[in-house]
Amino acid sequence: MGRGKGRKGYIFEIGESLLELLYPKRCPICEKILGRKEGRVCDGCRKKLPYIREPRCMSCGKVLKREEQEYCQSCEKGLHSFDQGISTFLYEKKLRHSIHRMKFQNRREYLDFYAEEMVRESRRYLLAWKPDVLIPIPMYRRKEKARGYNQSRLLAEKFGRLTGIEVDCKSVIRCRETLPQKELTAQERKKNLKGAFQITAPERIKKRILLIDDIYTTGATVDAVSSLLKKHGAGPVYFLTICSGNGK
Ligand SMILES: [Zn+2]
Ligand SMILES: [Zn+2]
Repeated sequence: MGRGKGRKGYIFEIGESLLELLYPKRCPICEKILGRKEGRVCDGCRKKLPYIREPRCMSCGKVLKREEQEYCQSCEKGLHSFDQGISTFLYEKKLRHSIHRMKFQNRREYLDFYAEEMVRESRRYLLAWKPDVLIPIPMYRRKEKARGYNQSRLLAEKFGRLTGIEVDCKSVIRCRETLPQKELTAQERKKNLKGAFQITAPERIKKRILLIDDIYTTGATVDAVSSLLKKHGAGPVYFLTICSGNGK
């Protein structure tokens, strides 16, 4: 039954507007209550969203300082096991706070906004990559239970609904607890992730894979999962994240 048609429709609408009164939709960036005509983000923030555009690293997609550079310093060394990836936003102050609320204060509704932005910004790349499947970076089971959700998984599911690409949340798992990456150096990050992921169903691994995560920093996490997938026969592995830091 369509919305607004029949009694059930009315009840649904009343229920929905009551919910909106109690929990008005807020801008994911500045937390202001959104006006009726505003979309998923307020007009003020919309104008200032820190999109990452060219010049960007041809491998990890980070912002580059100079137009003539092709790769950031880290990718120039050729250390990555993934093939290519991009992030939609620069991880600056307001974004950092927004992501923090999304992850740790149960503002998972922000992911609707982030997924839509990621789809729009990655369209050109998706056409070239032609991924068979989306795989979210898994969270350790106990940690996911404590938080109530894995933001990367929710993000991948929303991204999948918007693009029609299949989502696989089962084939890769995080089999042990790891330290928060942000507190570690690049070397320590790698060590921290050693043996942290596991493939549960090697026969299900598809050829062209697109990994989905919230933040890209040194790429250690994406690298760890992508090298594992490649050991199990995956073809090219790409990634998309909501945001990433500055490249050098
Ligand atoms: Zn705003
Ligand atoms: Zn790079």
